[in-house]
This record gives sequence, C-alpha cells and structure tokens, in this order.
Amino acid sequence: MRTVFSGGAVIIDAHAEVPSGFVVVDDGVITDVGDGEATHDILSSADRTVDTTGRLVMPGFINAHCHLFQSMLRGLNKTTQCLEDWLANDIAPYTARLQPADLYLAATAGLLENLRSGVTTVLENQYVHHHPDNTDRVARAFRDIGIRGLIARGGVDVKVPGVPNPRLETVDGFLDNVARFVSDWDGAANGRIRCEAAIQTTWLASGELCDRVGGFIADNRIGLHAHCAETRTSVASTIAGHGRREVPYFRDHGLIGPGTQLVHCVWIDPEECELIAELGATVVTCPTSNAYLASGPAPVSDLRALGVPVAIGCDGPGSNNGQNMFEAIKWSVLSDRLRTLDAGRLSEVDALDMAWRGGARAVGMEGRLGAVRAGHLADLVTLDVESPGYSGSSTLRRAVVFTGSPADVRDVWVDGIQVVRDSEVLTADRHDIHHEMRARRAAIVNFDDLAVTP
Ligand SMILES: [Zn+2]
Repeated sequence: MRTVFSGGAVIIDAHAEVPSGFVVVDDGVITDVGDGEATHDILSSADRTVDTTGRLVMPGFINAHCHLFQSMLRGLNKTTQCLEDWLANDIAPYTARLQPADLYLAATAGLLENLRSGVTTVLENQYVHHHPDNTDRVARAFRDIGIRGLIARGGVDVKVPGVPNPRLETVDGFLDNVARFVSDWDGAANGRIRCEAAIQTTWLASGELCDRVGGFIADNRIGLHAHCAETRTSVASTIAGHGRREVPYFRDHGLIGPGTQLVHCVWIDPEECELIAELGATVVTCPTSNAYLASGPAPVSDLRALGVPVAIGCDGPGSNNGQNMFEAIKWSVLSDRLRTLDAGRLSEVDALDMAWRGGARAVGMEGRLGAVRAGHLADLVTLDVESPGYSGSSTLRRAVVFTGSPADVRDVWVDGIQVVRDSEVLTADRHDIHHEMRARRAAIVNFDDLAVTP
C-alpha cells in the first residue's frame, strides 16, 4: 500500500523544512522524501495520494509523560496547589472511586485529546491499581484508538500517613504484575504498544523495591520511568530519609542508564546534571505542569549543554489541565528563558529537537520516530498553515513552536494508518466520550467536595 503526500510544505525534522515537497509511504514506513513536486512516476505509483496544498506535513509529536486516568480529574482546586497537597487532597480521594471502566474511558478521552494535539506517541505512566486490570484497560484504550504508546507500569509500596492510597502493592506483587503486563502487552497492536516499569518517586518506593526493580529491568531488558526531583519537598524528604539527593539515590539502586527516563528534574543540582549526562539517561521536562503546581522551572538548557537528551511531556491532565503538546513545547523554551533571563539559550529548533528526537530517545525509538525521513515510521501530522500566524513567520518551525495550536491539526497517521481526518478522530466518537465522561465525573467528584474554604 503506497500513499504519496504532495503539494504542501514538509518539516523534515527540527533542523530542516521545505516550502513544497512530497513524502512517499509504503506499508507504514516512509520510503522517500523530496523537495518540490512529486514526479509523474511517483504519483502514478501511488495507491492513494494526499493533497497537502495549504498544509504542512511534519512528524507526530511524542508526549513523553502522562497519567491518563487524570482526564477524569481535571480542575480540582479545593486546596493549595503544590504537588504534595494536590496529590493528597485532590487526586488520591477521587482516584479511589474510579471503576475499571473509568480507566478505559479516561484513557480514551486523554488519547483523543493527544491525537488532536498532533501527538502520535504517548509515554503513559499508569500507577493506579485498586482494581487488578486497570493497566490492561489503559492498554486497550491505546490499542483501540490507534495511537502509539509506551506504557510504564508504576508501583507504590510506601504509605504516606493520612493519605488514602488504594494503589499500594507489595514488592513481590508489583514485580509479578509488571512481568505479567509486559508479557501480555509488549509488542501488541502490531508493535504499537510497548511496556516498561516505573518507580513513582523516591518517597513512594522503598529501598527494597528500588533494588529489586534495578535487577528486574536489567534481567528483562526493559526501560524505567521515574519522577525525579519534581519539588523542593521531594528532594528534602529524600535527603532526610536516604541521606542523598534523588539522582545519586536512583543511581545507587542501579536505576539510571540509557533506558531510563527521569521526569521533571526541576530541583537537581549541577553535579546531578553531570551524573545524568554520564549515565546516559533521558530527562523529560513538563513545563506546563511544573508551572501549574508552582514546582519551578527545570534546568533544561543546562542539561542540553551537557548533551543530555531532553524530551517534553504534558504530564497528567490533572496538573495541566490539558494535553496541549503545542503549549508544552512552547513553554519548554519560555520556562527556561524565565529561569535564566537569557533568550539565547533555547530556540524553536531546540524545542522541536526535544519534542521529536528527544521524545524518540525517551521511548527507545531513535531513528524510527521523530523525523520525516526514509526508514522512519509514518507517524505523520498535517497542519493547516493558511493563517496569519504561519504566513507572518520567518520559518514554519518557528510558527509551529510559538504560534501553533491543536486547532491547526487536520490529519494524523500512525503507522501509515489515518486516525484523524479534518480534525476528527476516526477511531472514537468524541461526542459519546464527552457525555460518558461528564456523567462519570459527576458520579465520582461530589461537587460539595469542591467548595473552597475561605
Ligand atoms: Zn507525573
């Protein structure tokens, strides 16, 4: 099956674009990309042609950190909004009320939003286990909606006093459950779904769990996802409890290597930045979430200067309140400029390099995702560029980063299969999902709970 895109602009990767070009896709893989019009021979060889006049074709974004169940728990705001209070008071009590079907519904809603934001791969960190097949429900949502995913199955074995936690597992139970999930789902949906393990935080995982996960990921050759130094409180509690900062703590448990994604890294010090560079891990920055919860700006340009691969994530819909990847990409630059008061340290090229090459690195698919190049998978997005924001910009890449929005997304392909056409997701009915979400949200969140205390 050959599809030829022709007539409009093509953004090849963070470093290159052509105002008019063509892309040839054979059976889900990009086989040719060219500048200018496609030749008659190329067009006549196509089973299908896509006219991209007035549009641009670009690689799909990779959203490298998410908690999809929070699609059901947006906008909760009854207490102060720092991470620890928000988790304890706004997220944990309602999480306990979610039924297995809610996990599927919330994941579907969140993935639909990701597709409409130009995202073709989501790195999902699922850690809600009060029903045994919750993570399977999330994986089924990935399978059914047709998006690509790396699902990091997390675990919590430390109870925080006074906080309801329906997700606690024993160390043995956690490892058995991860092994079973990986066995059932890794490589599913024609390889679109892959699996790994996650440690939620240094303060929700015991030393025994960290030690045994280190061995488990080495034995099973899977990656590891972990929140790291998201807040000052987190770092202080790690030092108090373990006598070390978070990056050395993870290192000492054998948890940091090229297959590790360290999420947030807001409060890492210069020595930790160098340690991450030395050990080859990827950092995932979530600037919108870090601003929403007042966690702080991550040292993104410092990490990139050391050669650390950085990817970008929206984080859960509860700490964002959306899955707007354009916003996260733009804020990866703006947040660093506010931190450093230096506009020259990160550009739109850096931002797209993080969203594409950094994202591909995070999900272990460098050279296969994140560029419109021969040999890459056909995870492609078209944007409508016939608007003033694009016509007035010096490059299309600059417009995508500083002007673009989900409203510009027209069509999306994953593995060469079209899943969004004219801004509508083809694999799920957004109206049905909206009504189901509203009904379940009203049943789960008692609005009396949300009264703001004066
Ligand atoms: Zn998170």
